[in-house]
Amino acid sequence: MYNRNNARSSRASSFGKRGNRSNSRFGKRNFSSSAINVNRFICKAETIKAEDVFKPQCAFCDLAIHDVLKRSIANRGFAVPTPIQDQAIPAILAGQDLIGLANTGTGKTAAYLIPMLNKILINPQEKVLVVVPTRELAMQIQEEFVALARRLNIFSVAVVGGADIRRQIKELRLRHNLVVGTPGRLKDLISRKILDLSKFGNIVLDEADRMLDMGFINDVKLLLSLMPRKKQAMLFSATFGKEIENLTKTFLYNPTRIFIKSRETASQIEQNIIRVAVSQDKIEVLHDLLIKTEFEKVLIFTRTKHGADNLSKKLLQRGFKTEAIHGNKTQGKRQRALKMFKENVVEILVATDVAARGLDIPNVSHVINFDLPATYEDYIHRIGRTGRADKKGNALTFVE
Ligand code: ADP
Ligand code: MG
Repeated sequence: MYNRNNARSSRASSFGKRGNRSNSRFGKRNFSSSAINVNRFICKAETIKAEDVFKPQCAFCDLAIHDVLKRSIANRGFAVPTPIQDQAIPAILAGQDLIGLANTGTGKTAAYLIPMLNKILINPQEKVLVVVPTRELAMQIQEEFVALARRLNIFSVAVVGGADIRRQIKELRLRHNLVVGTPGRLKDLISRKILDLSKFGNIVLDEADRMLDMGFINDVKLLLSLMPRKKQAMLFSATFGKEIENLTKTFLYNPTRIFIKSRETASQIEQNIIRVAVSQDKIEVLHDLLIKTEFEKVLIFTRTKHGADNLSKKLLQRGFKTEAIHGNKTQGKRQRALKMFKENVVEILVATDVAARGLDIPNVSHVINFDLPATYEDYIHRIGRTGRADKKGNALTFVE
């Protein structure tokens, strides 16, 4: 069996208990508290049946939003809303607070960006704060924003650690309708009096589960305390536990709850395990997989940053085009690695859990758990990187 460090496992176990209790209301979820039963890593992909194809209540063109916004949604290539968008957009447009729970890769970003963009179109003074746990996620939201806000004369600034703060200050001074940031850098800019949250009437907490996981709860509470009492607040997450529920009580007013998770993992992901005997070298087993033609674009997870570096070096030596992404790399290097993988310059990305959380990378053919995830939750997040937007995906977990 594998080693897990104690801090991680004690947190996992407390999460497990909370998860069970609070989730019983909306489905069977059962985060194991100790070692994860390997059977949970095996699951055949379901073929999507015609009757299961989601029929939205409203098309984008029927929404009560500005025509220019409808046009940019069409230009972005979105034809019909995803289930979470279908329900969340009208509620947010109506000014309600909201809790949105849906699997990763289901379009939560546009679910809040579209109604927020509309709100800004109605009143250009309107300001929106989006708080996210990681830099990569902030950059990704910024990208989605840029794609959706094209020609709308609305501006967003991403404020994340590891990037040049002077440039962020300059951008914030210039103009901003939307600010997407990680807690640390946001606090920094507030203390420098560059950012004034009392002017923000809207807040989105995205990937709230991860935010709490990463210990940002007090930062989030501080940010909320600096905002006006009267505001529109939205919380999005892929999982919902007691801790998040408690947090929602502190700042959401009579929220609309949209819980779309029907099962733990996306149904179109084929999940299986690869048994590795003690006598076998894991990297040889991996090598044999990677040379197969169907392994087109592969995301590999390791447990540690060092492990990620090590593995990516070994794969490079074996002639695989590989990049690595983890917390010890500079922001620039992480962005570059991600871009190369996204644009198929490299076909393999080795990542740690934190670095890969929430990333939207199109067309990942396989997720390989080279090291076991520490919790079942981490597992769900890892494999959620494949099988996105109704494409079939594959997840393989090495079990020793
Ligand atoms: P989540 O935050 O739920 O994990 P994202 O917001 O990152 O999901 O969206 C996943 C992908 O789906 C993105 O590439 C996004 O551009 C795309 N997407 C979002 N909404 C739609 C839509 N209505 N139609 C087609 N693609 C969409
Ligand atoms: Mg998201």
